[in-house]
Amino acid sequence: MTMNSSGRPTAPVAASDIQSVETVSGSKGLSQFEPLIFETDRWGKTGVDLPKAKGKASRLGGVERSVRPELPGLSEPETIRHYMRLSQRNYAIDLGLFPLGSCTMKHNPRLNEKMARLPGFADIHPMQPQASVQGALELIDELATWLKTLTGMPAVAMSPKAGAHGELCGMLAIRAALQARGESETRKRVLVPASAHGTNPATAAQCGFIVDEIDANARGRVDMDDLRAKLKKSDDVAGIMLTNPNTCGLFETDIKEIADLIHAAGGYFYCDGANFNAIVGRVRPGDLGVDAMHINLHKTFSTPHGGGGPGSGPTVLSDALAPFAPVPFVIKDGNGFHLIEETEAEAKDSFGRMASFHGQMGMFVRALTYMLSHGADGLKQVAEDAVLNANYIQAKLKTIMTPAFDGYCMHEALFSDKFTAEGIETIDIAKALIDEGYHPMTMYFPLVVHGAMLIEPTETESKAELDRFCDSLASVARKAAQGDESLKGAPYLAPMKRLDETQAARKPVLKWTAPAPEQVAAE
Ligand SMILES: *Cc1c(COP(=O)(O)O)cnc(C)c1O
Repeated sequence: MTMNSSGRPTAPVAASDIQSVETVSGSKGLSQFEPLIFETDRWGKTGVDLPKAKGKASRLGGVERSVRPELPGLSEPETIRHYMRLSQRNYAIDLGLFPLGSCTMKHNPRLNEKMARLPGFADIHPMQPQASVQGALELIDELATWLKTLTGMPAVAMSPKAGAHGELCGMLAIRAALQARGESETRKRVLVPASAHGTNPATAAQCGFIVDEIDANARGRVDMDDLRAKLKKSDDVAGIMLTNPNTCGLFETDIKEIADLIHAAGGYFYCDGANFNAIVGRVRPGDLGVDAMHINLHKTFSTPHGGGGPGSGPTVLSDALAPFAPVPFVIKDGNGFHLIEETEAEAKDSFGRMASFHGQMGMFVRALTYMLSHGADGLKQVAEDAVLNANYIQAKLKTIMTPAFDGYCMHEALFSDKFTAEGIETIDIAKALIDEGYHPMTMYFPLVVHGAMLIEPTETESKAELDRFCDSLASVARKAAQGDESLKGAPYLAPMKRLDETQAARKPVLKWTAPAPEQVAAE
């Protein structure tokens, strides 16, 4: 062990030593073991002290409950410790690099949170008179202006509440446009590349379309010959759903031609904009011939996601689709801002309503704060740095791991499992990365790459952090290349070891069941 001049250890204990330490409590280091909240329950315990009810007669008319509510009894400090201990078992963007590809897990600036908590935004209610929330409506309108400007699109539907919800919005607009042309019964086919995110084919199917898969070529892009062949019989094509940059982390270089071919065939171009982080401020989807595209505010514009907050998926629309946009939407006239709520007058062609109110207000405040604090030049730099960071990772690891495709990537680096020795799989590498202190990368997606490992560092990571991550992953990858069998048991240091993933997915145990009374009595 290395010591400093005062005789204190300067390096952690070797992992092999830690594994062998067993504690009485199950706690490790400064991390306390924590059972389920129902297992810590003591009936009668509570964090509040309520006065005894006055008077004897119950006023509940005989419907009072006869058994105790199934809620755990804990004091306030016990409750707080329970959740703190659980949170320490978790991984978070505030703890370290979150390499999940396709997810854009970037830092959520605290300024966003401060703005979203301003009482004028946080304490208002969607059913307040519109005259009393003019500032909030103006914020929605200003955010809409930024989104239209950044995408080069004429209209945006603000109410969709996630990326997948935005896809639904775009595809419902396409279906409404086809209906207006009298072609909704004949145009049923939607083309979706093999590398697409699962939500794309799911959305198309949900809207009653038939999904027709397009092959990927050896460069990880749409196979243009396959696309042309699928468009030969074009009078049943409703449109295409294409991600750009695509889920292989590559720019679809034929995108203009794809848009032209789809339009010539009478279809619409839905672009999955989840990867907008890679091109924001550099490329305007409107210039590429896109008809509809959702934007994940919780990816590109830094609002929290995963366990951190709800998503938000505003969907930009071309002139051809704008009349079919969902209600409500904000307009401005001489008397200020108004929400158009009904499908009449200016909204007579709207396909209807997707959400009870106008969308995720808290996320709108955070996203606009992010835009205003970065400015137009800063947003452009976001895209440039995100792409630079991903290419740095690809360059550092490409001699140890196998890049899925030749050439530079966009915002995420994609590797296949080709470099691993017989018997070692992608999941073993991902699990070993947990012992190195990192959340695993996205695994086995996109499906077009064998044993895919998709890494998206985002722009918020420094060179020092990227180096640390690459060193960790490189050490695991070397073991994988050498066929080191110890990888099969990883993680060794996490609170939970290797789980039976199939059982967990097929037979999840989602409900705690109280132990049988005899068992309790015996204790
Ligand atoms: C994240 C993502 C989606 C879905 O977005 P949600 O907000 O999770 O519904 C769709 N497509 C791609 C490529 C994505 O990365």
